[in-house]
Amino acid sequence: MKGRVFDLQRCCVHDGPGIRTTVFLAGCPLRCAWCHNPEAFSGDTARSIESREVLNEVLEDRAFYEATGGGLTVSGGEPLLQPAFVRELLTLARAAGLHTCVQTSGAVDEGSLLAVLDVVDLLQFDLKHADPARHEVLTGKKNERIFSNAALAAARAKQVDFRVPIVPGLTDEPESLERTAAFVRSLGTRALHLVPYQRTYLGKYARLGLEARCANVAPPTDEALVAHRALLSRHGVDAVVVA
Ligand code: SF4
Repeated sequence: MKGRVFDLQRCCVHDGPGIRTTVFLAGCPLRCAWCHNPEAFSGDTARSIESREVLNEVLEDRAFYEATGGGLTVSGGEPLLQPAFVRELLTLARAAGLHTCVQTSGAVDEGSLLAVLDVVDLLQFDLKHADPARHEVLTGKKNERIFSNAALAAARAKQVDFRVPIVPGLTDEPESLERTAAFVRSLGTRALHLVPYQRTYLGKYARLGLEARCANVAPPTDEALVAHRALLSRHGVDAVVVA
């Protein structure tokens, strides 16, 4: 089966445990103001490629995965817009002995999520903002389905890491972090992964002729991240900052 892939990056160290190869799939239902991968929805650089062909490329770094506990991560865009392809690719990867990870916005129908859960070792699930109206302003969609899918994932997935992008002034309001903490605790989880906003992606927008809505936003300071962790801790959640 073919999937629409716009990038494949080797030797990734922030997309799950160990050293990994991350495969980026085209298409996304959201338009996050801080999106680092605008080529996911421009579609210009995507190619159609067979799952076996993707796996063969991923397997070239098998020695690194074995040495570090790494493996294959599927990201995007929103990979679960192509659930059959993701399922086939991860099934092949697991048969080859690889650890599998999927990064999702959760903004997909329930069936697309359920279609892959049994072949995912680690699901990295974004909770971008707790307030539905604010979420819509920031991403183009409300968050009710995302939060219901998060509950489904918490109940059914082998392992879920919930992640919050920390974009100063947009996603880091104390009320939103507190609500997100209460939500993950209601799912029986006491951990959150904070992903600090970075500006390294801005050149992509210039190359694609797109306007970057967060061009003037600075990354969070170390002090701000410490404060967010302290707030979350007061609400019963251990937050880890993803470097
Ligand atoms: S979900 Fe990810 S790929 Fe999609 S718009 Fe948001 S940041 Fe970009």
